[in-house]
Amino acid sequence: MSHPHLLAPLDVAGHTLRNRVLMGSMHVGLEEDRDYSRMAAYFAARARGGVGLIVTGGIAPNRAGWLKPFAARMASKRDADRHRVLTEAVHAEGGKIAMQILHAGRYGYSPLAVAPSRIKSPISPFTPWALSKRGVESTIDDFVRSSELAREAGYDGVEIMGSEGYLINEFIARHTNKRTDDWGGNYQNRIRFPLEIVRRTRAAVGKDFIVVFRLSMLDLVPDGSTWDEIVELARGLEEAGVDLLNTGIGWHEARVPTIATCVPRGAFTWVTRKLKGEVGIPLITSNRINTPQVAEDILARGDADMVSMARPLLADPDFVNKARDGQSDRINTCIACNQACLDHIFSNKQATCLVNPWACYETERTLTPATISKKVAVVGAGPAGLSAAATAAERGHKVVLFEASERIGGQFNLAKTIPGKGEFGETLRYFENRMADAGVEVRLGTRAGEAELAGFDEVIVATGITPRRLGIPGEDGDNVLTYIEVLNGAPVGERVAIIGAGGIGFDVAEFLTHQHAAESGDDAELAAFLAEWGIDGEHTTRGGLKAPHDPPPPRQVTVCQRSKGKLGARLGKTTGWIHRAQLKKRQVAMWAECLYEKIDGEGLHLTVAGTPRLLEVDTVVVCAGQLVNDGLATELGESAHVIGGAKKAGELDAKRAIAEGAEVAARL
Ligand code: FAD
Ligand code: NAP
Ligand code: SF4
Repeated sequence: MSHPHLLAPLDVAGHTLRNRVLMGSMHVGLEEDRDYSRMAAYFAARARGGVGLIVTGGIAPNRAGWLKPFAARMASKRDADRHRVLTEAVHAEGGKIAMQILHAGRYGYSPLAVAPSRIKSPISPFTPWALSKRGVESTIDDFVRSSELAREAGYDGVEIMGSEGYLINEFIARHTNKRTDDWGGNYQNRIRFPLEIVRRTRAAVGKDFIVVFRLSMLDLVPDGSTWDEIVELARGLEEAGVDLLNTGIGWHEARVPTIATCVPRGAFTWVTRKLKGEVGIPLITSNRINTPQVAEDILARGDADMVSMARPLLADPDFVNKARDGQSDRINTCIACNQACLDHIFSNKQATCLVNPWACYETERTLTPATISKKVAVVGAGPAGLSAAATAAERGHKVVLFEASERIGGQFNLAKTIPGKGEFGETLRYFENRMADAGVEVRLGTRAGEAELAGFDEVIVATGITPRRLGIPGEDGDNVLTYIEVLNGAPVGERVAIIGAGGIGFDVAEFLTHQHAAESGDDAELAAFLAEWGIDGEHTTRGGLKAPHDPPPPRQVTVCQRSKGKLGARLGKTTGWIHRAQLKKRQVAMWAECLYEKIDGEGLHLTVAGTPRLLEVDTVVVCAGQLVNDGLATELGESAHVIGGAKKAGELDAKRAIAEGAEVAARL
């Protein structure tokens, strides 16, 4: 059997989990629906796909625990009734499901937010109210009541959210707990809150109900817990009745990336391993585990007893079954971009997935077989064309995909060269296999024009973009390169000006200032990541932080933009800060309000906020946005379907490209 550790069953609290995969809690925006049938379909698909234990998004035990006003709550019989449709749907697929109880504490985006002490978090505009002694007691009662109601609703268990800087974590850490009563002060007092919640919950729900506790094992904030404190709490939780301990890494306010694509795969399993042997209950590890092999290796070396994956199951609901059936190379791998999941949630939009636009739209976006099988030509094998070709062929059309270059992928071939974005290559592997399975005929090295497209019933134009030129003197000089030339390996000098501060300008700056580790391999990559972000890989310091290692950059880079304001302000909601922080560490200069005049042997001549300047550089790299490559679309006129960059270059990203490809193919 492939992946024997991953697929081994596990007995917990009278339940047998069919394998070691826990679908980690993830808020997707369906939690706020009045009727949970959409959420039921979403979870049922993951249960059908083989997940061992599903954990829902965070559900508040009371109003003060809301993540935002009117967020989901489990506080009454009516709430419990509403959940029943989804527990039944999961059970009908042979799955198990636990409800996560999350009290947002001072992260609640609400004037009702409460915390152990009246200390505002750096990531919320609301200052929380300090809970009174009575308030602490009634909050514990609400956790217990929520668990009882979850049981009534048909859940197999609950996960009590004790990490990521939410209320329970705020009690534990002296960073946020300044109380002087029985619930604050020394560590034993500070951990009384989680221990009482667990003890009373266990007493209320009985033995045959799974209680998972998500324990913050690495706070990554100053004044967080020490390792000895974490061990003491873990032992207390086991004694109080917890069945499974899940790993929490980093508070939301931590200035350390913990799940973005630049985080190496499985970068935090060493933390869970450190706790092995300190308690007798199974441990779940988490963060950036996105392939069956990574998960299998983690379990085989004994770092943990289960693995938690959240976004990978958004990207592919059939992840576990494909691993079981020896079809791991057919998995649609999560590339950790956050663009359609977390970024949507933080923008108050329903989550979906960049590589799987069907995610969270299980009831609305359905694919039906084509009524008539047509001859379909798709021109361009970037993300838009790949998505269109695979989807059309799966519906029963005869599809030919034309690609001018010698490989599929379009701009994703450039994206995957950026340090920390190697995951983008997985999407190309996925589409390549998916197209092969569906019988798409791929014609590489073929630039399609009207002649090649004669005889097709439908033509989809996905020809992408062309980089924008600057239109200033000197731009054709030897010292000027496009981002495409740079990422394809053209030599670049030591002093560089980058024109354009969009996603590509930032990526190119990262590419040019990245310090390649002296040694290669996963261990060296992990060590470099931990050092760069100041993570104490031994967890000997409070909160697990130490001084970051910021070696001098290999190049002196200046990024310029014409507009006013902070550079990189429009980068991803949950990842932009990482890119900005990374470039700051590399001493990259950021210039706004630039007016470019000319480029010559001296460098880039420009005015900055009205002042003439000369940026003395060896190389100027142009990342000034893109224009539609719509020559073919114009030639073909209205008979063609135009998608992706070929349709609109402004604000283009792969999320839009892949979704448009799937949508157009679903309609043919
Ligand atoms: P393209 O990817 O441009 O593909 C078009 C394809 O059409 C090309 O392969 C081209 O060779 C082919 N073609 C053109 N004309 C013809 C013809 N006549 N016949 C046959 N073939 C033809 N997006 C994100 O969402 N997140 C990111 O993190 C991200 N990072 C990026 C990093 C870099 C460095 C770059 C360059 C881009 C990044 N992008 C990112 C943008 C993303 O890659 C694009 O939005 C996406 O590739 C657009 O897809 P597309 O299919 O419309 O066009
Ligand atoms: P972009 O984000 O639109 O940025 C273009 C940059 O060029 C801006 O800084 C713009 O700002 C500047 N510019 C525009 N017209 C110019 C002109 N005529 N002369 C000089 N400068 C000009 O586009 P991009 O960086 O090319 O990225 C393309 C797409 O890929 C983006 O939409 C993005 O979503 C996606 N992408 C995403 C990521 C990610 O991490 N999520 C990474 C890479 C790419 P000023 O006008 O102020 O100068
Ligand atoms: Fe993963 Fe990106 Fe999809 Fe989120 S949007 S699940 S990070 S691939």
